[in-house]
Amino acid sequence: MTQTIRRLSDTTINRIAAGEVIDRPASVVKELVENALDAGATQIRIDIARGGKSLLRVHDNGHGISEADLPLSVERHATSKLDEADIFAIAHLGFRGEALASIGSVARLTITSRTQGAEAWTLTLAGGRQQPLRPIAHPVGTTVEVRDLFYATPARLKFLGSDRAETMAITDMVRRLALSAPDIGIALHDHSTGEPRTLFDAPIETGDLIAKGHNRVARVLGRSTMEGCLHLDVAREGARLHGWIGQPQTTRATAQAQFFFVNGRNVRDKTLAGALKGAYQDLLERGQHAVAVLFLEVAPERVDVNVHPAKAEVRFREAGEIRGLLVAGIRAALAQAGHRPPEGATLTVGAPLGGASAGHPHTYQVPYSQAFLSRTPTPDTTPPTFDPTTGEVVPDPLLGRVVAYLYDAYALSHTPNGYRLINTKALQERLIYAQLLHQAASAHPDTHNLVLPVVVELTPAHTRHLEKARPTLAALGFVVEPFGGTGVLVRGLPACTAEHDPTMALTAALDALDTHPDTTTAMATGLAQCPPSTPAHPLGAAEIEALLRAAAPHPETTADWSGAPTARPLTRADLDRLFQP
Ligand code: ADP
Ligand code: MG
Repeated sequence: MTQTIRRLSDTTINRIAAGEVIDRPASVVKELVENALDAGATQIRIDIARGGKSLLRVHDNGHGISEADLPLSVERHATSKLDEADIFAIAHLGFRGEALASIGSVARLTITSRTQGAEAWTLTLAGGRQQPLRPIAHPVGTTVEVRDLFYATPARLKFLGSDRAETMAITDMVRRLALSAPDIGIALHDHSTGEPRTLFDAPIETGDLIAKGHNRVARVLGRSTMEGCLHLDVAREGARLHGWIGQPQTTRATAQAQFFFVNGRNVRDKTLAGALKGAYQDLLERGQHAVAVLFLEVAPERVDVNVHPAKAEVRFREAGEIRGLLVAGIRAALAQAGHRPPEGATLTVGAPLGGASAGHPHTYQVPYSQAFLSRTPTPDTTPPTFDPTTGEVVPDPLLGRVVAYLYDAYALSHTPNGYRLINTKALQERLIYAQLLHQAASAHPDTHNLVLPVVVELTPAHTRHLEKARPTLAALGFVVEPFGGTGVLVRGLPACTAEHDPTMALTAALDALDTHPDTTTAMATGLAQCPPSTPAHPLGAAEIEALLRAAAPHPETTADWSGAPTARPLTRADLDRLFQP
């Protein structure tokens, strides 16, 4: 067979490019909202259905696109924003002229727009082909509607998450965009079910610059989180860093409440994330993540935003200086509020918690108090260890020794870093959840075989769910067989729910599918929240320590269902505060 070199068609080129610019509905939202911002809009409304897969519409009141420009706007490398004489002076969010062409090649795209003093026109693109312009009624501004995203590229469609996961990613993206533009009103509505649901709504913020920023950050992070935040504004050698950072008691279990903006553009950048982590070194416990909304302004020639097609990554000319500005600025703000790293040495400890199960060894830094160091010159952190004489598990020094159990709900543990309070019920539920997900991902789920199989009568709704959910149930460790009519025979339960009543466990797993389509996580959630049937007895210290050990390798267990931490440090300062007048 002879090979010939062919020129790719525009449609094919656009589809290849689309893979770089838009990989999921959230990135389409980003491109369209950035276009609206570039067009000087003050109100932006986003409507989605089914995680943006079936519908994704962005309406703005910006300056609009003229009749003549409308066909050009969907052409590749057509942009009104780039001055070719100076491609490094980038004043707009967009400049590559790729987004609309890319979206038009993988979805049904309709752009409707009106400029001041002109009529409104609408342009439709299907499979990359333009339909003739039509006049239409529309206020000044632009509405871009994307339907059936990726219908033209089924392979990509397959890689998308569940509707719920994509909706969450879109909401996260809208929150990021909203933080960058407090002057703009922005709302997100979900039309998947009959009644539209408002997922995010931030009106135009008012007041001076700081007040506007503060109000917008509070709207995104929540008022109570905001109360634990400090304002920061520092400048050094022509670079300015400003924004809000959480005090060490205001943390999250994930890095999701960390937002970075470089010259107004939201970025995910390792230099900035690393510097933030460094600034909080010794102030946070392992597994805790700082809250931060940080804006960095640098001269455009000192940062390259064109290293990534979606412009989500940047490259700094002097990364070391930027890092220094962040670490010094954040440390200074924290120190001013009385947060200094604890006295005592900082040791580098070899093995991570959970040792073998956590896989590859990595290092992390743990601050030890002088007192602890003198007691244990060589802290052993490979848990669990056994006392050779009694055979008892020796508590891992980092997880701490449980010294009290308050209200049969909160354990107080003493660690080398201080005291911690643990919400044991939340931790137990999250551990079961983590173990179930772990099960589902493994080839051979651990099953607790019932000595006496149990017949469970199912409701019609449960029967319907069971049809589809059978493989997921098996993956979690259930052994369920048909048992005539509407009955099923439960022979086994997931090992980590061995103490559950089989009927309750199965129905809890199936009930969860009423509201959530994502079967594995939904079932695991339902099951984890179902109380065990063995009567609850107050936990003993050894049981709680075992729980802490079991949870250590599972990062999911650091936060409860609502995202609140399952464990909090209890510092001297916290106690002192209780006794203030
Ligand atoms: P870029 O934003 O990189 O220029 P796009 O493909 O996103 O590329 O958009 C192409 C052009 O279409 C833009 O340069 C702009 O002139 C026009 N455009 C797109 N969206 C809007 C909008 N919401 N309002 C006004 N003009 C728009
Ligand atoms: Mg654009």
